[in-house]
Amino acid sequence: MSTKQNKTALVCGAGGFIGSHLVKKLVKEGFWVRGVDIKRPEYSKSAANEFILGDLREQSVVRKVLDQPFDEVYQLAADMGGAGYIFSGDNDANVMHNSATINLNIIHQGQKMGIKKIFFSSSACIYPAHNQLSTKKPNCKEESAYPAAPDSEYGWEKLFSERLYLSFFRNFGVQVRIARFHNIFGPEETWRGGKEKAPAAICRKVAETPNGGTMEMWGDGKQTRSFLYIDECLKGVRKLMNSKFTGPVNIGSEEMISINDLADMVMKIAGKKIKIKHIAGPLGVRGRNSDNRLIREKLNWEPNQSLIKGMEKTYHWISKQVQMTASKVTP
Ligand code: NAD
Repeated sequence: MSTKQNKTALVCGAGGFIGSHLVKKLVKEGFWVRGVDIKRPEYSKSAANEFILGDLREQSVVRKVLDQPFDEVYQLAADMGGAGYIFSGDNDANVMHNSATINLNIIHQGQKMGIKKIFFSSSACIYPAHNQLSTKKPNCKEESAYPAAPDSEYGWEKLFSERLYLSFFRNFGVQVRIARFHNIFGPEETWRGGKEKAPAAICRKVAETPNGGTMEMWGDGKQTRSFLYIDECLKGVRKLMNSKFTGPVNIGSEEMISINDLADMVMKIAGKKIKIKHIAGPLGVRGRNSDNRLIREKLNWEPNQSLIKGMEKTYHWISKQVQMTASKVTP
């Protein structure tokens, strides 16, 4: 049970990559934390004071987990994955239905319970595809979101939910904080199975491929992105929650890199030379980068750790997973 001295937090999606790291951080900061998810964290035990396994699409579950006026609610639960999951088209109905239902349930019950503040994790995927046709100068300024034209149903659902939370702020005064995450990565992220994102997929392929071998990559590898290490993402989330700014605001890195160069970086970290075979596959926009002008202005802060520092930690963790899996398979 929560105590009177501790601030209370509910983390929805606490079994996921960002959610499980966030729980750790909040507990360290002295929060009493309840986590909820349909699954437990895969790679380490949850640090939550209480962890409830439950499906947030069910109103009865949401009533059970949101049964008190939490000081802070973090809504990270979503049906999501990397390009292979979001852009194939096969998961569109699930992505829209599952994530929208979760958000509708949570904000409705949260408002009824009188929660003090709620954080919603939106995504860079809400930005119009036509502003991201160039690899060099994509436009991801917050105000460029409208007129809206995201390139995936995942992006449309996030945009709908941003508006949902903002309408509860306007009509009922619920304190809302919204961040648009740009490709968060780090140890304990999904690294195989079809939901992994580019940094993890590249680390896995480099770890699995022998020196001098060949690995596959979707597209020509010239598409650009920026990637933000998990610790910096969480720093941004906490700073936003502690600020008076509602958002939406980008939480991302401005260090843009092509996927080919990202693969080169990982090969250098691994000390390997691997040939790349470019194949057709789901890709998303041509270029994307975080625009940090607004976060600098509103929070007087922006992430500044270099990409390679985070990639080193991530590669070493994934290469260990690959080795552990291989040793389980080979007797
Ligand atoms: P994740 O998939 O690891 O975590 C999401 C969690 O939500 C999972 O543990 C999943 O089991 C849970 N979930 C899904 N459906 C549920 C349901 N019906 N009931 C209860 N739990 C359910 O993803 P993540 O990378 O940790 O992302 C967290 C949030 O940040 C998501 O909302 C995601 O859309 C957003 N985001 C992430 C990134 C990124 O780069 N990782 C980028 C932009 C936005």
